[in-house]
Amino acid sequence: MVQLTNRLTQFLTKKKHQHFINGTYQNSIGEEQIGVINPATEEEIGQIAVGTTEDVDKAVLAAKNAFHHTSDWRKMSPDDREKILYRFAELIAENSESLAQLVTLENGKLIKDARSSDVGGAAKTFRYYAGWTTKIEGETLDISQPQKGGRQNFAFTKREPIGVVAAIVPWNFPISIAAWKIAPALAAGCTVVLKPSEETPLSALLLAEIAMEAGMPPGVLNIVTGDGRTTGASLTAHKDVKKITFTGSTYTGKIIGRAAIENITDISLELGGKSPAIVFNDAPDLDFAANGVAAGIFRNQGQVCVAGSRVYIQKKVYDKVLTDISHAAQKMKISHGFDETAQLGPLVSKSHLQKVCKYIDSGMEEGAKLISGGTKNPLDKGYFLQPTIFSSVDNEKTIIREEIFGPVLAAVPFDDMEDALRLANDSQLGLAATVWTKDISKAMAMVNRLEAGVVYVNSPVRSDPALPLGGYKQSGIGRELGKVGIYNYTTLKSVNIVY
Ligand code: NAD
Repeated sequence: MVQLTNRLTQFLTKKKHQHFINGTYQNSIGEEQIGVINPATEEEIGQIAVGTTEDVDKAVLAAKNAFHHTSDWRKMSPDDREKILYRFAELIAENSESLAQLVTLENGKLIKDARSSDVGGAAKTFRYYAGWTTKIEGETLDISQPQKGGRQNFAFTKREPIGVVAAIVPWNFPISIAAWKIAPALAAGCTVVLKPSEETPLSALLLAEIAMEAGMPPGVLNIVTGDGRTTGASLTAHKDVKKITFTGSTYTGKIIGRAAIENITDISLELGGKSPAIVFNDAPDLDFAANGVAAGIFRNQGQVCVAGSRVYIQKKVYDKVLTDISHAAQKMKISHGFDETAQLGPLVSKSHLQKVCKYIDSGMEEGAKLISGGTKNPLDKGYFLQPTIFSSVDNEKTIIREEIFGPVLAAVPFDDMEDALRLANDSQLGLAATVWTKDISKAMAMVNRLEAGVVYVNSPVRSDPALPLGGYKQSGIGRELGKVGIYNYTTLKSVNIVY
């Protein structure tokens, strides 16, 4: 059993958490509170304030002042900004256990995943973007404008930080997805107001405390807690926000997109997925492929945007691969996140469990064959669900068309490459895909023709700070991470000096 760290124990003694604005905790102007529930025990671990429009105004003003006046963040030399971001990365790593335990408490996920994917991922992302502060470049351009009297042009572009960034994040990887936004925004010289998910808001507050310890000037990173309807909507409608960066569902992305266009605010959207895994007869090793497909859907209880939630298996190996995937699923130990031997923890909330269960019911009603799992609550308490696998002969069932965001996999057989491509691309979403084959020509043909922002061959999809992530179709607008990730937070100025 994991022992809570002293720092976390101290943090949790505060039952009602405040917003983090201008370098300090500040009371909310509103009275409304939301309880944060541990999904493994169903017990409340604290409460957060629902940020009102006035709270959002205060946070945006702090960020605006820090951008323009008080902190000189944008004017600080890139080298000095790098040092602070690097120090922040180091302190995230030093506080890894406190942060990871808090993520497990509020999200339910396995502690080993919280340590590696969430906290390890966040530290890596800050280290990566710390290095980018000194590498933001414009271009010189040879333009053709005629000038009188032998004068000449000297034309160039420069990249400037865009201004105050509103970052809105989901609950599935609370710290690492926040880092994917905060790190490049701060590296570019922007300041940030982050609204974490109301399901997992506490780790963001602890992260902000650590940012101050790293020497981040007040107002550069602000956290306003609350729900989407009140706090999120106020933030996305704010006229002083110059960039909205959102990760969440396609449904919410459309609402936020409309708010952004009202003020012509720049926006990036990282939205939902229904990603195919395609297993050919000639997969390098069928057990390896089956285990990879299982890992690709059941990691983090299936609550992963790039989860391979539809598997297409070539007919000759269909039964063998499906049996292997179900064996892998049936062997998974379901337990609370602090059990170091657990392989599947609870889903994030009661309402999310109910939503996923409704999809399981719809799979049965629409005639998909239940191969494995489907049991709603294998443990006494907590929002647990067995890893669930369906088989279907067609691509039309709701469980194959809609994002479930839980440990539910639907398998469909296919004939040949054309058939696999037709089935895989038959979706409104296009976030990711995986292909399992030994044949490099076939793999490349699939890479070229799959409508997905990320394609992995012979591996489940993973994230890396250097590799851009984002979706085709209704999976989003723009890309996060990598070099493009930092340019999301800059705006281009074109200059011509006539001399
Ligand atoms: P969600 O859309 O319900 O909420 C995401 C965030 O938006 C939360 O902080 C929420 O409070 C806020 N929000 C809700 N309504 C809002 C509004 N009207 N205005 C402003 N903010 C609002 O999503 P979720 O359930 O937290 O997360 C799961 C979804 O996120 C899935 O669809 C998943 O695929 C997606 N996701 C995508 C990526 C990616 O990189 N593409 C990564 C992780 C998760």
